[in-house]
Amino acid sequence: TKGAAMVTAVASRVQAQRKQIDKVLALFRLTREQLVGVRDKMRVELEYGLKRDTHPLATVKMLPTYVCGMPDGTEKGKFLALDLGGTNFRVLLVKIRSGRRSVRMYNKIFAIPLEIMQGTGEELFDHIVQCIADFLDYMGLKGAQLPLGFTFSFPCRQASIDKGTLIEWTKGFKATDCEGEDVVDMLREAIKRRNADVPLLSLFGLHILLVVELLPLQEFDLDIVAVVNDTVGTMMTCGYEDRNCEVGLIAGTGSNMCYMEEMRNIELVEGDEGKMCINTEWGGFGDNGCLDDIRTQYDKEVDEGSLNPGKQRYEKMTSGMYLGEIVRQILIDLTKQGLLFRGQISERLRTRGIFETKFLSQIESDRLALLQVRRILQQLGLDSTCEDSIVVKEVCGAVSRRAAELYGAGLAAVVEKRREDQGFEHLKITVGVDGTLYKLHPHFSRILQETVKELAPRCDVTFMLSEDGSGKGAALITAVAKRLQQARRE
Ligand code: BGC
Ligand code: MG
Repeated sequence: TKGAAMVTAVASRVQAQRKQIDKVLALFRLTREQLVGVRDKMRVELEYGLKRDTHPLATVKMLPTYVCGMPDGTEKGKFLALDLGGTNFRVLLVKIRSGRRSVRMYNKIFAIPLEIMQGTGEELFDHIVQCIADFLDYMGLKGAQLPLGFTFSFPCRQASIDKGTLIEWTKGFKATDCEGEDVVDMLREAIKRRNADVPLLSLFGLHILLVVELLPLQEFDLDIVAVVNDTVGTMMTCGYEDRNCEVGLIAGTGSNMCYMEEMRNIELVEGDEGKMCINTEWGGFGDNGCLDDIRTQYDKEVDEGSLNPGKQRYEKMTSGMYLGEIVRQILIDLTKQGLLFRGQISERLRTRGIFETKFLSQIESDRLALLQVRRILQQLGLDSTCEDSIVVKEVCGAVSRRAAELYGAGLAAVVEKRREDQGFEHLKITVGVDGTLYKLHPHFSRILQETVKELAPRCDVTFMLSEDGSGKGAALITAVAKRLQQARRE
């Protein structure tokens, strides 16, 4: 009959559409062999970055941090910390009490407007100093002399713990005149500019200039002791409680890892004794094309639309700033193929950045009914049918699962290296972790952990969530550096 024929026609169309959708999702499913391949390539890149000859061209930069020791519990005092480069910009006051290993923190979040993130370097650093001033004022600490640790979550070449030359911006930053400059110098210069600001008093239309030297005190007297990557701060914070913590991992806006390496393997730094923390900057993994076999057209589109095309390819497949963008590219393609949103590409869907990590996490939550998924999509301005919302959820799942697996493969390379370097049959190691993706996403951490277990079976890896790793860690590193400074003087 006619009715039956129609039912069959609809059924076969649904089937055909399903096939097309599955074909796209399959691009994100990595086989075990592929993941083993990623692990092994990461291992090769780690070694490249450490060796003097190959270092200049290495895509995983393996930057020495001059952080050599963990806190020993004797650190104490009050410290200022800055945390720039994550989801928020924060200024913190950290009070460390010795012996009890207790830390008290006060912090304030400041917005960094897009015009400032992508304006001039002077504007950016003036803004940072303005925020420090506001914070000190707010804490009643104006004029206080405090040691400062600067968590600056971008690739920096360091020649000591208190120097760091920005190699290149990543994520959403692109302020001019900063690349190739020392961030500590830029901060000091901005403080100088502010202190030198000549106050202008206007009385009855008369302008009276006050000469700086006549002012009793400068607003700022900060002693910038350490520049710290957020991964390093995270490792330090966890290391304060767990001596086995030798790896720091960030799965947030950006993607990165640091770990303690044997000095004898670090060809860029003199000396063979002991260990030093290496900031791997693994986000650049794949920039030489070594991941091209698993990158999809969607990854390429995300890369091309980013602030730094061709750079940070692994980061762009794994971190919070880009996962939503990958999802959006897939949804656009599925819509073009007539498989979603009735084939209509809305203005919203064309808008970059609509899928924040927060939304991915919500959409993928198991507790959420499909109706709620639809409501979230609606909030994003996407009018979906029930079928649409199922597909969107599947797409999100495929993208975030691949990210977690790629993280796991990368991490497996590092812990295996540590095991081999120490000649152990088995290695027990702790990884300090921070980042919105790791913390908020309902499945990311589990999949990451399962993948490491599978790809590094002889390592027993414990994951330790760092509570406020970058801020607290910067203070701890500053405290250790101060302690060593004093010891050297005595
Ligand atoms: C930066 C790293 C940082 C990571 C996580 C990356 O984009 O290059 O230095 O550790 O993001 O914040
Ligand atoms: Mg952070």
